Amino acid sequence: MRRLCALLLMICILLVGAPMSVSADEPKITAEVDERRMELYTVNLTLDNLFLASDVPPVLFEYQQQFRTLVPVAAIASYAGAEVSWDGDTREVTIIKDETAIVLTIDSASVMVNGEEKTLPSRVPAKIVTYQERGRTMVPVAFVGQELGMKVDWDESSRTVRLTSPEPEAIEPEEPAEEPDEKDEENGANNPSASDILLKGIRITMDGDTPEIRLQTDTKITYSTTYLTAPTRLVFDIQNAWLMLSDQQKNQINSNGQLEVKASNNPYLTSARMSQFSKDPHAVRLVLDLKQNIGHKVTYDERTGETVIRPTNYVDDVRFEHFNTREMIVIEGNNISNYNIMHLDNPKRLVVDIKDSVLNPNRLFVDRNIGGRVVNRIRTSEFKPDHHYDPDDIISRVVIDLNKAVSNNDLYIIEENGQLLVHLEGKPEDGYRYEGIGWTASQLTFYGNARTDYKLVEESAGNLIKVTMPATNMNIPFDLLEVNDPMVEFIQVSEGSNGELVTHIKMKPGSILQYGNLNNVQDLVLTFTNTDIKYREKLIVIDAGHGGSDPGAISGTMKMLEKDINLKVALETQRMLEAAGFRTYMIRTNDTYVALQDRAGAANMLNADLFVSIHANSAANKNMKGVETLYYPSENNPADFRNNKYLATIFQDEMVRALGAASFRINARDKLVVLRETKMPAIITELGFLSNAEEEKLLATSDYQRRAAQGATNAVIRYFEETLTHLASRP
Ligand SMILES: [Zn+2]
Repeated sequence: MRRLCALLLMICILLVGAPMSVSADEPKITAEVDERRMELYTVNLTLDNLFLASDVPPVLFEYQQQFRTLVPVAAIASYAGAEVSWDGDTREVTIIKDETAIVLTIDSASVMVNGEEKTLPSRVPAKIVTYQERGRTMVPVAFVGQELGMKVDWDESSRTVRLTSPEPEAIEPEEPAEEPDEKDEENGANNPSASDILLKGIRITMDGDTPEIRLQTDTKITYSTTYLTAPTRLVFDIQNAWLMLSDQQKNQINSNGQLEVKASNNPYLTSARMSQFSKDPHAVRLVLDLKQNIGHKVTYDERTGETVIRPTNYVDDVRFEHFNTREMIVIEGNNISNYNIMHLDNPKRLVVDIKDSVLNPNRLFVDRNIGGRVVNRIRTSEFKPDHHYDPDDIISRVVIDLNKAVSNNDLYIIEENGQLLVHLEGKPEDGYRYEGIGWTASQLTFYGNARTDYKLVEESAGNLIKVTMPATNMNIPFDLLEVNDPMVEFIQVSEGSNGELVTHIKMKPGSILQYGNLNNVQDLVLTFTNTDIKYREKLIVIDAGHGGSDPGAISGTMKMLEKDINLKVALETQRMLEAAGFRTYMIRTNDTYVALQDRAGAANMLNADLFVSIHANSAANKNMKGVETLYYPSENNPADFRNNKYLATIFQDEMVRALGAASFRINARDKLVVLRETKMPAIITELGFLSNAEEEKLLATSDYQRRAAQGATNAVIRYFEETLTHLASRP
């Protein structure tokens, strides 16, 4: 009841209080939601009085004039000890904790809780919010918190959503476990069953700097884990297990009936407690009292017959960024200072190992193709120690595949706010930072030493900005920064006639400048946006399949030729892509024959960014229907760094959606010339089956052809939105 009241209170406040409190002074961020940039008010979030840090902050999201707080699902889940999974096909987030399974669908107000459909409060759905190039799945905190059994309150004065875990007693019974005495041992319920693992003891050891909790199990165990906060604890429930302690260990049983082992001088934990948690079914509970919220790794030591739990740290994020147009890699985690860096050749790459760290299981780590001046690709994995390490070391490895060698002079590494910044093009300038934000905006920040008055003048019809500031308050070297992104051409810092610092910023046509207060501020932030240029730099090669003497498939009853349908859809796709701002190249614009090698060759010669080949299917089985996407499986070819499969997944999704058609399949094919020989990401989209009566009729209509072109256009846009961090990342 208390929880319900708190929730109702919060709903009232969020419906009534929050919108009124939203004013220009409240902290807000500019983020991308639904492919649009918008300003979102941020709020704080605590769990059991611990401030929850997340790279994309909790935000107020407005839907039909109602506000709801959305939080990154990873943040809430990791603190609540829940598991999160993501299905990209269905855009579903599944949150599982204990007996509760919550399935939210992005952009949908309906949610499944343990198989029962519910509607989200105010119909505010889960959203993908992209902030500073990080896209995160954001879920309504009040609903999810409540369903996970937490109490939810809103503190207006500090703009904080407070989550409180269920009462600890409810999870961890503090009543003494029954001591098995002789009388009990005659009683069958108090004996291990034949299938039980016998847990004979526990010890805490140090392996070098690494603490180990060693359980004498004589075999591998099955277990589940939960993190609890305030105080921080990690709970292991070991199934089908029975405590059978030695007399010596029995002496260590505390007044709560738990075998308690204190850790001395341990960096991670204070003690481990173990008890026969349940006798029906048999289960042993191990509680680790931690000094901080950290990760863990479980292994089985064949030699001693012990299950080994090793507390360890998390790597939370690995990403590519620019610092003043120079390339860098950012690694986030709670042990990033403990790293090794290695230069390797053939192919050229840098390896950054973060020691005593596992990849945070609640974060998504995918290999990313960058295609920058220096960085070609980033790969992240948990690394099995080789001869450079002890066999027991826990290592997260970031491999940076390079387009050119990076010398020790190029490499500049610093730690900052739990981030390891690996600069790859030398030490960046002090005093100011220029960075891209999403696709169409960038930000230039001058960092003052003290509050100061800036002077800003727009020259040359607003295309040249002159910012003047007292040199005494700034620490900026004279320099010319060639930016050349869609917003800014260059930034030049020089000395004025009176010794002041003068910065000239040359803007690109269509770029718009925004800035805040110029006087009595320490830092000055200039924001540039240019929405005209969105896809201007991308070249899409559109290949209408077959042509001339090669008709392709012939339809079942109407005897239409595949080559004609392919061309109509290709021409419409070209029109739509150009309207969206892309450059395009057509392999054929009329009924001519072009050899397959020449199709791939043309795209390679043009150094195109994407290759889209349009076909229609045919099969002997007339019942076969639906959309198919073909791609070359680059993942099987170490020399091919294209993300074809990713592109194919997007195409399949968008084509099915635009056509309202069935999804036949996504198909990896390693022998198709146009897919194999192209050097840029490439797919073949098969619009439908000309051999199927129903789809034949549809493919004959201009409406269906137009929808196919729309699907292809949507897929191309989505591919670039999702894969490229910023336009300026192109060399
Ligand atoms: Zn074909």
